[in-house]
Order: sequence, then C-alpha cells, then structure tokens
Amino acid sequence: MHALDQQRHAIRTLGDPRWARIVVRDPTVDGAFYYSVKSTGVYCRPSCAARLPRPENVDFHATPASAERAGFRPCKRCRPDQARDGAQPIAGAHAGERIRFATGTCIFGSVLVARSAEGLCAILIGDDADVLAQDLQHRFPASKLSRDNEGLSHEIAEVAAFVEAPGADIKLPLDPRGTDFQQRVWRALRDIEAGTTASYVQIAQRIGAPASARAVAGACAANPLAVAIPCHRAVRSDGGLSGYRWGPERKRALLEREARA
Ligand SMILES: [Zn+2]
Repeated sequence: MHALDQQRHAIRTLGDPRWARIVVRDPTVDGAFYYSVKSTGVYCRPSCAARLPRPENVDFHATPASAERAGFRPCKRCRPDQARDGAQPIAGAHAGERIRFATGTCIFGSVLVARSAEGLCAILIGDDADVLAQDLQHRFPASKLSRDNEGLSHEIAEVAAFVEAPGADIKLPLDPRGTDFQQRVWRALRDIEAGTTASYVQIAQRIGAPASARAVAGACAANPLAVAIPCHRAVRSDGGLSGYRWGPERKRALLEREARA
C-alpha cells in the first residue's frame, strides 16, 4: 500500500467509533464486531489482550465469517471463531431477504432505520449516515438492502420523535434478530421502566441465567434497535455506565432525559 493510502486508512480507522472500543479492550462490545490486522493476518474480538495494532492495518468485520472471507484467520488468544455465551450478532438474518432502509437526523446525530417485512430490524445511531449504512450491510450481509428514504419517511419521523422521548412506547412493530439468549436479554431490557436502570447482574438473574452477566453485556452490545430496546438502561453493578454501542455520551444523555421526564 502506498504511504498516502496507508495514512487514509489510518484516519478512517481512527475516526471509526469501534476503534476506541479496541483501544480500551471493551468486553461489552464482544460479539458486536471483530477486527482484523493486516500485518499479522489474524482477526480478534474487541477485548483481545493482544498488542494494540497500528490503525492503518485494521479493518472491522461484523462476523467471524466475513473476516475469514477476507482472508484472515482466528487469533489463538481470544478465539473469535468460537461462539461464546450465545453471542452471534446476526442470527436470524435470512439470505436474499429484502430490507429497506432510510437515514435521517435525530437529536443524537444521524439515525438509520431499517425495515423487514415484519417490522423494524435495525435502528442505528451515529455521527455519519454512511458509516451507519455500512454497519447495516455488515449486520445483514446476505440480504438485499435498498434505500427508501421516501417510503420510510414516516418511520424516520417516528423514530426521531421516539428517541427524543424514549419513555413512551414505540408504536412501530419491532423485528429484532438474534439468538434465543439475546432475545431473552432484549425482552428483559424492554421490561426496565424508563427513568430506572438495571445492572447486568440483575438482568442475568431476571432471565434465569445468574452466572451470565458478561454474556448479558454482550447481548446488550449486540442490540440492533438503539433506544427501542433500551440497552442504555443496563449499567454496571457499581452504577457505572459501562459501554454503549452508540457512544457513552449518548447513553448518559438518554438516561438524564429519562430521569427528568
Ligand atoms: Zn485476539
């Protein structure tokens, strides 16, 4: 790679919110994505204890399969190819399925809404609509994605309003895709009332898997429906906010908003 391309790649990596998760080796985003390192030819979980790679060598992947398709082999240290705790981010995605999506803005920046035949299958929030569209592609690699800003204008408006007042119930049907374990965690999250929080340990107890607090954190990080499945209401046992797939400052802002309401 030319020096300029390397530099561009490094800048892109540094600007990706997932990079910050790798730097702090955040276990709460394990299962949400993987990263590969070109200089070593391996791919890892975000929490891998291996030496921090140079950003120009890093690429992000939604699944172990996509990292392997790109020619990388699993790291022997963090074993990203071995399913742990039932974390499989895109379980339930159907090959060839048609999914429409649209992007717009909300109080937290850009928002992407995706809809399957059954309901909303993704609500993604971030700084850059193009990055959100890439994230969606990673989550549904085998689906036929088509942009439909006009057809989904109602959904975008509804979600933007909901994000602003997350204590209310969202009126759109939801179609979260995940493993059985993830679905259990996500149902428990929807039972946490606005204005309150629950720890990963408490959620693990509520779903009848008291030893699985770490896996609960992983399922929270894999939540495909930002705010609608209120993973922002899951916190550490000591009350610390812990990680948030959509940015810790957004988690804080959401909780403050709900506490005031
Ligand atoms: Zn590793």
